[in-house]
Amino acid sequence: MLCDLCHRNEAHRHIYLFEHGRGRKTFHLCDPCAAAKGTEDSRSGSSLDLLREVQECRRSRLAALVNRAVFSAPIFDIHTHLFDPAFGELLLWGIDDLLTYHYLVAEVFRYLDMPYDRFWKLTKTRQADLIWKKLFVEHSPVSEACRGVITTLQTLGFDPKQRNLAAIRKGLANWKLKNFINHCLNEAGVAKICMTNSPFDDLERPVWQRGFKRDERFVAALRIDPLLLAWSDTAPRLREWGYEVHADLSQKTIREVRRFLKDWTRRIQAKYLMVSLTPEFAFPDAGACAQLIEKAILPHGCEFGLPFALMIGVKRAQNAGLKMAGDGMGRSDLTALANLCAQYPENKFLVTVLARENQHELCVLARKFRNLHIFGCWWFTNVPYVVEEMTRMRIELLGLSVTPQHSDARILDQLIYKWQHSRRIIAQVLVEKYAALAESGWEATPAEIERDAKELLGGAFERFCAS
Ligand SMILES: [Zn+2]
Ligand SMILES: [Zn+2]
Repeated sequence: MLCDLCHRNEAHRHIYLFEHGRGRKTFHLCDPCAAAKGTEDSRSGSSLDLLREVQECRRSRLAALVNRAVFSAPIFDIHTHLFDPAFGELLLWGIDDLLTYHYLVAEVFRYLDMPYDRFWKLTKTRQADLIWKKLFVEHSPVSEACRGVITTLQTLGFDPKQRNLAAIRKGLANWKLKNFINHCLNEAGVAKICMTNSPFDDLERPVWQRGFKRDERFVAALRIDPLLLAWSDTAPRLREWGYEVHADLSQKTIREVRRFLKDWTRRIQAKYLMVSLTPEFAFPDAGACAQLIEKAILPHGCEFGLPFALMIGVKRAQNAGLKMAGDGMGRSDLTALANLCAQYPENKFLVTVLARENQHELCVLARKFRNLHIFGCWWFTNVPYVVEEMTRMRIELLGLSVTPQHSDARILDQLIYKWQHSRRIIAQVLVEKYAALAESGWEATPAEIERDAKELLGGAFERFCAS
């Protein structure tokens, strides 16, 4: 057994101490450390101080172990809006895209009295200039989305203290995209990225139809919002593409919808199907959304062994003037999800919910249904205060059978800050859990800690998909 203080020499002295209300504490010292601390016998007055010192030592060693494990585990980022480089300009990167991220657009209007239209008429560079001025220069960038830009810039080798946007633009302009992708993935420690792929997107669809050599780091997810949420507009498009569907959901129409799903699942090699839903989502229900889920999506999921990802709680265009920054959120009734999980045990559901108020209920649902896998701190919940709370709650209720985070990155560079910030919180929560376990008499080994970190950062997700 190694010495609790130096952690180098074999410990020959074993000291027992009763701490009032906390039971017997044991620690182990080597001869030189024991001599240095003057512990000839355990009843000496300095024993309590020594116990504190030993506990501090153990804690910092544990923190180092956990941080190393969490920061070195390769990540499977299971939901992003990034694209395989073959999609060209659909893959956003660089400082102007970072600054005009819709999270920051929402925030800049807290300080602007400019009409929305005038802002949208500015070029992207001018919008970025304005956001930089308002959110970084005239006010300290303390919000999570602002701090993210700073973390990213610093990691990319800029000195944010210079507050020099022109220099940052110039520096980033020197990068070639291919190298920049490698650099960002490397800095973020991300091995695989799930994209969000929509056959209904007019820019994206033709690229898939033409075909291209896939970059294996970019995995596809089939997003079908228009199919489920705007059936009457989508049916004519499917017809145009050669699927014989009609507005009513007859058996033939359902068969054709399933053919459409099959074609696209195969074409893009989808890892899962996905949709984002309003707080009012109901299931079962007579409406087209629930009917299509029941008759087409779920049987398709079973046939292909694919999970169905539901992102629940978004209110679209709460302030339409803000465009993509104008979506809001609401508390959801998770009865719909409970019904899905209970009635379709053969289907797998990947779920994240937007309202903080729904998080506890979601964890409890996952305790009831093993076909439910919880992931990520989505959008408005992706602020350290809430991420920490959610991560702790999930681990305390579900152990390691969750995927605590996805990046939701829309701009390649964001992978850096999103994962740096998230890993820090995940590590912090784990340190606390392992310390509490050790207090109860179970010490996780370094190999076990590494295994657990991998589980949280993609392993549990892969296992769920393969189950
Ligand atoms: Zn020692
Ligand atoms: Zn997203």
